[in-house]
Amino acid sequence: MVEMVALYDTLARAVVEVAPADGNVFRMYSCGPTVYRYAHIGNLRTFLMADLIRRAFEYQGVEVRQIQNITDVGHMTDDQFDTGEDKMLVSAGLEGKSPEEIANYYTDAFLEDVAAINIKPAAEYPRATAYIPQMIDIIGELIERGHAYPAAGGVYYDVQSFPSYGRLSGNSLDKLESGHRKEIDDPNKKHHADFLLWRPAGPGRMVKWPSPWGDGFPGWHIECSAMSIALLGDEFDLHTGGEDNVFPHHEDEIAQSEGAVGHPVIRHWVHGAHLLSEGKKMAKSAGNFYDLRDLAARGHKEPLAVRLLFLQSRYRAQMNFTLDALSGAEKTLSRWRRLIATWSAEGAGSADATEPFEKRFVDALNDDLDTPTIMALVSEVISSNGLTVGDKAALLRRWDAVLGLDLARDVGHVREIPEAANELIEQREKARLKKDYSTADRLRHKLLSLGVEVEDTPEGPKPRLVQ
Ligand code: AMP
Ligand code: ZN
Repeated sequence: MVEMVALYDTLARAVVEVAPADGNVFRMYSCGPTVYRYAHIGNLRTFLMADLIRRAFEYQGVEVRQIQNITDVGHMTDDQFDTGEDKMLVSAGLEGKSPEEIANYYTDAFLEDVAAINIKPAAEYPRATAYIPQMIDIIGELIERGHAYPAAGGVYYDVQSFPSYGRLSGNSLDKLESGHRKEIDDPNKKHHADFLLWRPAGPGRMVKWPSPWGDGFPGWHIECSAMSIALLGDEFDLHTGGEDNVFPHHEDEIAQSEGAVGHPVIRHWVHGAHLLSEGKKMAKSAGNFYDLRDLAARGHKEPLAVRLLFLQSRYRAQMNFTLDALSGAEKTLSRWRRLIATWSAEGAGSADATEPFEKRFVDALNDDLDTPTIMALVSEVISSNGLTVGDKAALLRRWDAVLGLDLARDVGHVREIPEAANELIEQREKARLKKDYSTADRLRHKLLSLGVEVEDTPEGPKPRLVQ
């Protein structure tokens, strides 16, 4: 049986069951970073969503092939393709480095950041500049099939040639304004929503490639069509990105990919809601962003606390980031690690006791990645009276394959039984021997309030920490 995970599909506008179409390998493409700056934690939230989808399948034994691109050309500042400047080139100018040096530096930083928050590495990280021939091929194919035309300002996609243009974003052609609106109106465009696939290099532009339409460079959208088809084939299961990618980036990708191959390419689309800061979308341009380096400099040195914080909201709800909330997540994470370190010595769990919890975990995961419910379930397991500490540790260590919080990390020191508890344990044992069970019981409760549980064994009382 192929396991299915229900996810909110932007195209279907509903939560739908998603599974590998070939019954074997789940193929997914995730829009990656534009490598002209450090990724901020908003970007990381979107990348984490893709990681959770992947881990949900892998947890249930499904192999996943994930591709994530590195945008190292063509992403315009302010997303203005005509009037904006290439983000890579702007940064290169500012930092006095070549675009390639900038791209290499920030690609390495991105890989460090995703590793720091335990995002599993993609199978491949293709760079846009390595796929220019494939982009040129697709553009040629689009022209041949009547979906694109060369004009004075570059090669345009002819949106009127693709009847379902606007289906993903709900932007019908007559309503279309945002996104493409800022492009300079080229009188040679057939429709104001037509967008550039290839743009001629202006005088002085250093980064350019030869093409049948003259020296130039590709649009941002065409790179994802080229890399996804090259590495996943012309039919694959899922495409992810942040909600700002829906239009125009992904709308245009559908038009390009389907237009070029003549049939649907991507079965499902999942978009992560934005991370906000001070109530606004976290963005480099808004200046309200944090990256992992900023956070470390402020003393928040555990990147996995960021991961825990993100798990507390569902991926498709916007969430506002605050440093206070991050401090709360740090405390929770150290507490969980401490408990697990203490409990793990207590032996493996028993399947009978853990089974109902395991089922609830998988159900919540498969229910559109309901991570808030999973977080509540973790707390329930921790304070459960029905589970032994061995059961608890076994469950949480297993779930960490999805949570990715490194819960079994050696915390350096295992919390000791508090001194005051040892005294109470002795008093309780004396009361028990005198068959003064009401005193023994009262002391048992007192010990519990100190986080200590006592098991009476033939060898005497055996204390252990519960929380
Ligand atoms: P970029 O590096 O700008 O190309 O963005 C990389 C990814 O981060 C894209 O999928 C964006 O949709 C996503 N993204 C950008 N800003 C945010 C944010 N504030 N919250 C969540 N995701 C974001
Ligand atoms: Zn993309």
